[in-house]
Amino acid sequence: MRSYFPNLFGNDFHKNRIALAVLEGRLPHALLIDGPSGSGKMTFATEIAAALNCEARGDGTRPFPCGRCNSCRRIQEGSFTDVKVLRRTDGKATIGVREIRDYRADMYLSATESGYKVYIIDEAEKMTVEAQNALLIMLEEPPKNVVIMLLASGSDTILTTIKSRAQYVPMARFTTDELSRYLDENSAEARSIAFRDADGYKVLLVSADGRIGKAKELLNPKTRDENEETRAEILAVIRALGKKTPYTELYAAINSLPQKRVEFSASLETLIAAIGDLISAKKSDDFSPVFFTDTDSAKEAARDVPISRLIRIYEIVMHTCRECEKNANVTLAAANMASKIKMT
Ligand SMILES: [Zn+2]
Repeated sequence: MRSYFPNLFGNDFHKNRIALAVLEGRLPHALLIDGPSGSGKMTFATEIAAALNCEARGDGTRPFPCGRCNSCRRIQEGSFTDVKVLRRTDGKATIGVREIRDYRADMYLSATESGYKVYIIDEAEKMTVEAQNALLIMLEEPPKNVVIMLLASGSDTILTTIKSRAQYVPMARFTTDELSRYLDENSAEARSIAFRDADGYKVLLVSADGRIGKAKELLNPKTRDENEETRAEILAVIRALGKKTPYTELYAAINSLPQKRVEFSASLETLIAAIGDLISAKKSDDFSPVFFTDTDSAKEAARDVPISRLIRIYEIVMHTCRECEKNANVTLAAANMASKIKMT
């Protein structure tokens, strides 16, 4: 069988479905590609843009898109004038109506190249409601040969009216075995890490959280060091969760987490995942940890803390995390979290 979208690992169901739709000229005007950062959304969108414009589409002996024709190469390099990527401006929290209107004006100009005009909106979930309404008009009456791809990490903030006009494409999350297989086949650096530092490699796989892009980031030594540092901070908090640990120790561990709002919230998310592992370890011998590298280390970490206490702590951390998202003072929230855990 012909190979479709060879640059994207896995996701076979959507790859086959979309490739056939492109070949048969029935791809919808809009796609909503949904998945966490590092899950391959931009890779997939770029591949679809290439497929729409590939000069070898009729050649069944070559992969589709071929990756070698003039259009494919220029699309992958980002120099194809009819494939445009809209990104949030640096320092801005949202994508506003102005950016979308500029896009709209461009969309009605005829194609410069011969094939399809493709518009990719990165972080589409960050569009304001006004921006989404401006986009909606384009989705209702799209110009011929225009395809709009919305890339989103979660689509809760995307209007239902937009969702109903776009084909939904959720990106797959991979198991650690699948990630490991992918890295083993595709990265000499990954093979080298696995060879010289088996434990570090396990940490890399579990930290990638099912995402190939994240795994690739972690191949970078600096990113890997930062990740190990974050994990050490989380493990210090985990070790201080026991009833008998002095309050000062628990407080110091929580206080060592990064104190900027975004990073503090991210650390709490990781802490929640780690406590979730401890709870699972109490309940069952057979579970897939999402923070710990294996079930034994999760069991060991959970040994001295009863499950009822872990569940209460889990709720306290969840609550703190939500408060921080609602702009609570981070230093105060950290101190409150420490005293609530101590009083549990
Ligand atoms: Zn091609």
